[in-house]
Parts: sequence; C-alpha cells; structure tokens
Amino acid sequence: MDWDLIIIGGGPAGLTAGLYASRAKVKTLLLEKLMPGGQMTNTTEIENYPGTPKGTTGTELAFRMEEQAKEFGLTIVSKEVDAIKVQERGKLVLCGNEVYTAKSILIASGAEPRKLQVPGEEEYIGRGVSYCATCDGAFFSDKDIIVVGGGDTAIEEALFLTRYARKVKVIHRRDKLRATQILQERAFKNKNIEFIWDSVVKEIKGTALVEEVILENVKTGELTSMPIDGIFVAVGYVPDTKFLEGLITLDSNGYIITNENMETNIPGIFAAGDIRKKPLRQVVTAASDGAIAAVMASNYIENLG
Ligand code: NAP
Repeated sequence: MDWDLIIIGGGPAGLTAGLYASRAKVKTLLLEKLMPGGQMTNTTEIENYPGTPKGTTGTELAFRMEEQAKEFGLTIVSKEVDAIKVQERGKLVLCGNEVYTAKSILIASGAEPRKLQVPGEEEYIGRGVSYCATCDGAFFSDKDIIVVGGGDTAIEEALFLTRYARKVKVIHRRDKLRATQILQERAFKNKNIEFIWDSVVKEIKGTALVEEVILENVKTGELTSMPIDGIFVAVGYVPDTKFLEGLITLDSNGYIITNENMETNIPGIFAAGDIRKKPLRQVVTAASDGAIAAVMASNYIENLG
C-alpha cells in the first residue's frame, strides 16, 4: 500500500484534513488538480474566518493552510483524479495512467461554478464571460459589466468589481437578494451598483469579445438587449461527483451524503467540505469537516490492524 490516506482536493477541507492526519503520523498524500486553496483562491477578502480580525485575502489563507500542513509532513501532488476503485485489500485512486493505493480515501474536491447554460456562454468564456471576479476583474477597467446572481458570491463580486468597472449591474431572477444582510447593505449603498430585478440572461452575443446580452423579465416575458463588456456569472456551485456515480451515495443534486463522522456509504471512504450535503458551506465549516474526517480516517486505519 502506497499511502495510509489519500485526500482528493486541496481546498480548506482537504488542507485541514492533511494537517490533522499528517500531525497524527498518518502517511498522507493530497492530490489537487489545480493549485491548493480551492475556492479561497477566487476570493478577495475573507472576513468571517475566526482569528482574522482585519480580514485576510483568500490566497493568503490558502498559502498559510498549505504551509502549515506541509510543516507536519503532508505530501501534495498536482494530479486530476479520474476514478476511485475499491478492492478487498485497499482502495485505488486512478489519475490517467497512474494508480495510487491507500487504506482510506477522503473526497474533498469541492464544487465548481454553475453555468447559466445559455447560448453564447461557452463561446465567450475568457472573452467577456468569467466565473471569478478576483481573477479577471482587472481586465474590465472603466467597462460596463453585469454580475448574474443574488447570493453572497454575486454581491461580493459586484462590490469587488466596482474597483475596476464604470458600472456594475446585478441581474437577479427574483426581487430579493439571497445574500447576507451585511453584504446587501453595502451593495445598496454603493452608487456604482445597479440592480435589475426579476431578470435572467437569455443569450450572450458579440464578435471577438462579448458585446451584448439579451435579458428576459421573468414576470412580463419582455426581452431587452443590453450592450455590455463583461459578464460575471455567480449563480452558485455544483459538485463534481460524476466520477463517483455508482460507488458513493449522492443526493439528488449530486452532493455526497455522509453521517456526522464524514463517513460515506463505503467503509474507509470519507467526504468533507463543499462536496458534502450540508446546510452551510463556508471556509470554517470545510475546515471543521476536514478535521473530523482526518480523525475518523485515522481511527479507521488503526482498526484495520
Ligand atoms: P447561492 O447562495 O446558491 O446563490 C446562488 C444565486 O444564484 C441565488 O441568488 C440564485 O437565485 C441564483 N441562481 C441560481 N441558479 C440560477 C440560474 N440558473 N439563473 C439565474 N440565477 C440563478 O451561491 P453563492 O452565492 O455562490 O454561495 C454559495 C455558498 O457560499 C453559500 O452558502 C454562501 O453563503 C457561501 N458564501 C459565503 C460568503 C461569505 O460568507 N462571505 C461568500 C461567498 C459565498 P435565488 O436566490 O432565486 O435562488
């Protein structure tokens, strides 16, 4: 067996699990397809993670979590996982032609931005359509942009984008935001943010770059065209659990079902963080899941004898 524990995903859940497991002398490998940090690296300010009174940037917190886990001996390898296989004596993690073996697996691969699934969206990704204000905001200096969505992400992104854009219009499908009150108040106070209620994006158009968006008022059915330079989509996240179908029990939205010990339906396979069916998806709850999962995985490994 190559490893005691393989963690799939290097967001706050995976990194915290890596810290706890390595510190407990569990031989642990973390596989991450991009760079460690997960969604934290797409976030500018994190102001609700305990112990950071003046807030911190997502990349800073991600870097510190990674550094701390490595200090205790966590090995991190950059690899995308294609499948998991369960055998009588251990578990296999398949990455292309490579196979890693472990006594236990923790799935902490998070979720990815939900797409609008409208004509033009795929075509203009990177040419005016973005899912990450922190990554792409600076390309839209003095431009007119829209943010689609009404949750915490959409409002945080809209606020952040006012640093660059001339005007930020928030397009929301209802007439009330889902975002927390404190973010709503900040957005309503900001003169560079305008709200377009009860509206959805029907189509994205342009030539080389995005130039126009077609909006539909969901109450009246009226279609309007709006000239626009950029579209930031922030309509929630979907878990990437297709590679687990048929093996791990998922809910109807594709999230992994666990008990409070982070155990899935397969003994020795655990899940933590945003990929799990849970009521609150935050950095702090991901970290908490990761800690619990690492301790439970460690107990599982010890009981194998
Ligand atoms: P979310 O809370 O699921 O909100 C998604 C938003 O997009 C909702 O307003 C939803 O409308 C809208 N929406 C969904 N599908 C749509 C579609 N197909 N077309 C148009 N609009 C659509 O997602 P999120 O804002 O990314 O937040 C995800 C989680 O992270 C939440 O738990 C959130 O609290 C957390 N988060 C926290 C912070 C923070 O604490 N500072 C920051 C970011 C995210 P409806 O409202 O009508 O459903």
